[in-house]
Amino acid sequence: MDMDFLSVVDAKKEEIIQLADTVWDNAETAFKEYRSSAALIAYLKKNDFEIEKNIGGLPTAFIATWGTGHPEIGFIAEYDAISDLSQIEGIAEQKKDPARVHGHACGHHLYCAGAVAAALAVQAYLKKSGKKGSVKVLGCPGEEGSFGKAYMARTGIFRSLDAAMGGHPGCMWAVRTRPSLACCSILYKFDGRASHAGATPHLGRSALDAVELMNVAVNFLREHIPYDNRVHYAITDAGGNAPNVVQPHAEVMYMMRANDNAALNSLCKRVHKCAEGAAHATETTFSSDFHSACSNIITIPTLQKNLYKAMASLPLPVPDEEDVAFGKELAKTIVDRDDKEPLYPGELLPLPDVITPHFGSTDTGDVSWNCPTVQMHVGSWITGTPGHSWQTVAQGKTNYAHNAMLYAGKALALAAAQLFEDPQLLAQAKKEHFEKTGGIYEPAMPPDVMPHL
Ligand SMILES: [Zn+2]
Ligand SMILES: [Zn+2]
Repeated sequence: MDMDFLSVVDAKKEEIIQLADTVWDNAETAFKEYRSSAALIAYLKKNDFEIEKNIGGLPTAFIATWGTGHPEIGFIAEYDAISDLSQIEGIAEQKKDPARVHGHACGHHLYCAGAVAAALAVQAYLKKSGKKGSVKVLGCPGEEGSFGKAYMARTGIFRSLDAAMGGHPGCMWAVRTRPSLACCSILYKFDGRASHAGATPHLGRSALDAVELMNVAVNFLREHIPYDNRVHYAITDAGGNAPNVVQPHAEVMYMMRANDNAALNSLCKRVHKCAEGAAHATETTFSSDFHSACSNIITIPTLQKNLYKAMASLPLPVPDEEDVAFGKELAKTIVDRDDKEPLYPGELLPLPDVITPHFGSTDTGDVSWNCPTVQMHVGSWITGTPGHSWQTVAQGKTNYAHNAMLYAGKALALAAAQLFEDPQLLAQAKKEHFEKTGGIYEPAMPPDVMPHL
């Protein structure tokens, strides 16, 4: 295939980098990405994309489309930052940036600008080849814990896509082959009766006791749940600071994960019984507030192989002298970093023969239940960089990170072009998708749960 269309990424390089830097500078957290989404929308509009805003009741979600009809390929763009992780860029010591509160510790500024680069290249490909079809940028806010894509998925917006692709920053060059777990968070609120803890404890009913008992019950439950289930909790309201009061109100946030949405549902029911038992024992009452949920990821081997082929046919970015000097200094700040590893991820990892499980979760799962989906691990950081750390924020604007983003844009576009060239690939991807989902999407998120804006 003639790969000339990829040159548009080089031609618009400065603008794409500027776009990523703007999102980095704004560092807005989940569902508050007003300036970031506006910057992405403005740039896509300027490049003749049509914009649909406010998807699934999320003011910062958007879909940008160029072209008409099928095949319809979408590039996932995330742009939310991590709360309170402000950090000055380009320095190898932890130091809050006085200009901002939050920080792009998951590299979503590179994720979204890389998606834009890919979309521009596919636009160039479609113009040049005269092929039928359309390309979209899926503007997905609130990935971090808020699961924005699950709300967007309700509208059926991902359903019409023939394929969705994304490139998430990380410490390696690889196609993502591991599925992720379905996940949900539910807030449990207990109410009892306040009383003087010394004089009249028998008149009090402690909501804090209920929270503690619920946690104890869940910790015993752990032994009897499938090995790939996960339960985490945080006491978000312990009732107050006074130990001489029987606490009348207390809250605990639960997060559950399981292999798929059905397994998650049965885990949640069992955790709920622990809350019932705790309330019964303490003579308190409780309510539960379902916060958010995302589905597990459906993996599509055909799309993985296709993306791998595209990645392998492009040269990986090479760090320059400045990147190496900075990387070396930064490496000293990373505890337990394996010094035998190369400083920057230097090679494309082959597709594994055996898929190992992954115990994290992402709302890309809700895209993947609706259309064949594939993701790339973009080797944006020095090896060993912990996720969601100040070190990722510090690396957000380096030459190397920018070049990694441009490479991701090109590789995603090349993989997409291959799907336009060979309809057999898409047919096979759809077949694999149907085999795994039966064409039915039952979201992990109940239909009455609204986004916590
Ligand atoms: Zn993250
Ligand atoms: Zn992320």
